[in-house]
Amino acid sequence: MTKSLRKEILRKIPSVEEILSRKESLDLLKLYPRSALLEAIRRGLGRVREAILREEDLSRFDDQFFSMDRLFPFIQKELDLLVRPKLRRVINATGVVIHTNLGRAPLHPRALQHLVEISKTYSNLEYDLTLGERGDRYTHVEELLCRLSGAESAMVVNNNAGAVLLCLNTLAEGKEVIISRGELVEIGGAFRVPDVMRRSGAILKEVGTTNRTYLRDYQRAIGPETALLLKVHTSNFRIMGFTSAVTLSELVQLGREYRLPVMEDLGSGCFVDLSQYGLEKEPTVQEAIETGADVICFSGDKLLGGPQAGIILGKKEILDKIKVNPLTRALRIDKLTLGALESTLFLYQDEKKAMEEVPTLRMLGLSLKSLKRRGRRLLRRISESLEDKAVILLREDLSQVGGGALPLQSLPTIVLSIKPLHFSVNALEERLRQEDPPIISRISKEELLLDMRTIFDEDIPLLAQGLQKAFLALDEKARPSS
Ligand SMILES: *Cc1c(COP(=O)(O)O)cnc(C)c1O
Repeated sequence: MTKSLRKEILRKIPSVEEILSRKESLDLLKLYPRSALLEAIRRGLGRVREAILREEDLSRFDDQFFSMDRLFPFIQKELDLLVRPKLRRVINATGVVIHTNLGRAPLHPRALQHLVEISKTYSNLEYDLTLGERGDRYTHVEELLCRLSGAESAMVVNNNAGAVLLCLNTLAEGKEVIISRGELVEIGGAFRVPDVMRRSGAILKEVGTTNRTYLRDYQRAIGPETALLLKVHTSNFRIMGFTSAVTLSELVQLGREYRLPVMEDLGSGCFVDLSQYGLEKEPTVQEAIETGADVICFSGDKLLGGPQAGIILGKKEILDKIKVNPLTRALRIDKLTLGALESTLFLYQDEKKAMEEVPTLRMLGLSLKSLKRRGRRLLRRISESLEDKAVILLREDLSQVGGGALPLQSLPTIVLSIKPLHFSVNALEERLRQEDPPIISRISKEELLLDMRTIFDEDIPLLAQGLQKAFLALDEKARPSS
């Protein structure tokens, strides 16, 4: 009985052609490509079919249900999904400032403006305005980088993994590179220092043990085939307890003695000593240069707070060799990046200003007081509408500084804790990811936490709206019989 009724109802679904000929469709065709609309109609009608097959109470599928007014929202929803970019902005409420999966460092407005300006029309990317002839794309940031770091020479490439590859290939192809076993790290997705070294053509010579390496280990390993002494900053793990590592300064001494260049991969690379802001001491870029490293490299989009880039600094003699390596062409930096990088570096000319303005540094430096203020602003917007739907409170917690940098360090922060009353905290977390813009939060025990550190003030209305929408949708689901 129901089976044949269901069949009959299914037959009432209009055809794609029928929908396409309606005025609503013709209006949409003025805004969207025909192919997208066709696909949206197919998917929308597919959803309707699924609903009919799933539903037990078939009385809802009356003639009214098949009116355009009721059908079109299904199609509109599919169309919205189809024409929306896949790469989207999200609200980062995790508190992780350098979040590798969420695009790492947000850019300063001036960096964005620069990027737009040079890419909207033409630029002097590789043109010397004084001479009126071909110029070099790297000169735009070289002087500034040298001035900020004290290095003799500078060069920028696509990212830091590329910088490591390029430096090793230039300095040690077919030769030996000495590195401590305690520094053979894997970073993020698939960046393993030993693998990149091998691809560069360099021969890895591991010394010491995982937890202890001494200067004499390096010294003993030096031979006629040695080309480089390498130090890698272990950004994402730490060996505790019985440990010993050789400092850059000691390595530089050793290098001088044996006339070998010394390189350090700083990983994050920061121009500001963050220990004055309550974080652990990390070696700064200037210190590494002053200590006498011949070449150092680091990321543009970790603590530095710029676009994805690999920055190489060091002695002119070495950088000159790196610059003429044919690999530079394969790893070269794009003009958008170069513009954003130059503007970001510009902010570092005044350290105090950099702390206030570079987004990553500003977030790290936020006081509990200002985080609390931000939390109260969000709370005010949602407390009334969510009053009988959740237990909501502002409290202290710890935020992780980074996944891509200083991951082991944490800072006191303020979180908005939400415990939904009618559905699970996991359902809320998942639903928030489907909002527009998606909201990325974290769960701790039975609470959903929104960390105020990585939320932008201008996102608070959107965040409040997303929360309200999520609660509406989930509450409806939890209480379907109304
Ligand atoms: C992050 C990191 C890299 C890779 O840098 P990307 O900019 O992500 O390519 C290399 N070395 C160290 C020590 C790092 O921390």
